Amino acid sequence: MQKLKYERPIINKISAGISDKFGMTPQIPVIKEIDGIDVKKLINDYGSPVFVLSEKTIRETYKEAKLAFTTRYPKVQFAWSYKTNYLNSVCQVFHSEGSWAEVVSGFEYDKAIANGVSGKKIIFNGPHKSKDDLRKTIRNGSYIHIDHFDELYTIIALSKSIRERPKVAIRVNMDTGIYPRWDRFGFNYENGEAWNALNRIMLSEKLDLIGLHTHIGTYIMTPNAYAVAAGKLAELAVRINRKYNHNIKYIDMGGGFASKNTLKGAYLPGKDTCPSFDQYADAITNAIINSEINPQNMPTLFLETGRALIDDAGYVLGTVLANKRLADGRRSMIIDIGVNMLFTSFWYEHEIYPAQKIGKFSEDTTIYGPLCMNIDVIRAVINFPPMQKGEHVVLKRVGAYNVTQWMQFITLRPKVILIDTKGVTHIIRENETKNTITAMERTPKHLK
Ligand SMILES: *Cc1c(COP(=O)(O)O)cnc(C)c1O
Repeated sequence: MQKLKYERPIINKISAGISDKFGMTPQIPVIKEIDGIDVKKLINDYGSPVFVLSEKTIRETYKEAKLAFTTRYPKVQFAWSYKTNYLNSVCQVFHSEGSWAEVVSGFEYDKAIANGVSGKKIIFNGPHKSKDDLRKTIRNGSYIHIDHFDELYTIIALSKSIRERPKVAIRVNMDTGIYPRWDRFGFNYENGEAWNALNRIMLSEKLDLIGLHTHIGTYIMTPNAYAVAAGKLAELAVRINRKYNHNIKYIDMGGGFASKNTLKGAYLPGKDTCPSFDQYADAITNAIINSEINPQNMPTLFLETGRALIDDAGYVLGTVLANKRLADGRRSMIIDIGVNMLFTSFWYEHEIYPAQKIGKFSEDTTIYGPLCMNIDVIRAVINFPPMQKGEHVVLKRVGAYNVTQWMQFITLRPKVILIDTKGVTHIIRENETKNTITAMERTPKHLK
């Protein structure tokens, strides 16, 4: 076959209003309602900006993920990653669907207990667990995923004075073909640290080794990385069985499935490129069922999926504050949603839509937040229709990490609303007021 002729790529400047590179006039969808509730009404009732979560979407997404795994593997258990969104109402939706809790701090642990989760259904991850946290979680029979040798030795020391036997697993990090490697958490597989930790646990008198855990990264676009990881954990399980005649109860594959958001710099939208739950489930379950693990003792498969279960359920609604032209003539628009409440805007090109009827034209636009800070950019460039001051916008797929990582900076954080499955709206977190902030301040007498 003859080699195709090389053609130099050329860059064409695209001006407003004419065809884009696919030949069509830009089509910008409008989002007027969320789960049947008018965006304008939500803003009138609860203020602008406002976060809105759809309980229906959370439950549907969870069911879709669960089905993908339970049709491929006999024993599956999800544990909700608290740090992804630990509003109590959100956690309760997941718990009511059967999810356990996955926590990474003493604070999150206490939150799960307060949500009524049994200590026996809490997975305790993370590099910092205080001695008090460890004592409490051992007594409660929680699953402790050990991060490093110092933690292992602390648990061994504590176990001598506590009646309950600590239930432990180790977190394993490894080469899965994803770089940079996440090797700061847990024990390394390739250099033998993981095996060393497992031997120490097995030879300790009071620790019960119940599982193996990994969390290979976040927004992982290649399901095969999970196959590699699951294969390596299965191999460790087989070695433990061979040496100690001991069966671990579960393999925990952590989280990290990509959500449908689009990463900055990506050429195609995330909703077209991110793998489906079926693809992740295929990769993981193939690796485990085809391993040397004895079929009589198949471990439960734990999943700590965060982002992919909640991102789609979250919206933030806001208002156009002003339009202006930049020095080079580009259109810019200021909205009342800033990066202080939209932490994920540092990674994602968030989808933003007008909330009311728009005209025929659109133009390259920079969308800024309201903060007096140069980095407060929601979209550096987006083809967007002109909007009037006071009109509304909707940002999609913001359910993960924003209401945990947002910061109080310059403005006050807004309300969070949940639309339940019957279409009733509930405030699940109040907006901050000046008092929320100043209540924590103390002013010395001489400065009053
Ligand atoms: C953050 C985290 C998760 C959830 O990760 P996602 O990328 O949101 O799915 C799961 N397990 C552990 C240990 C984590 O730290």
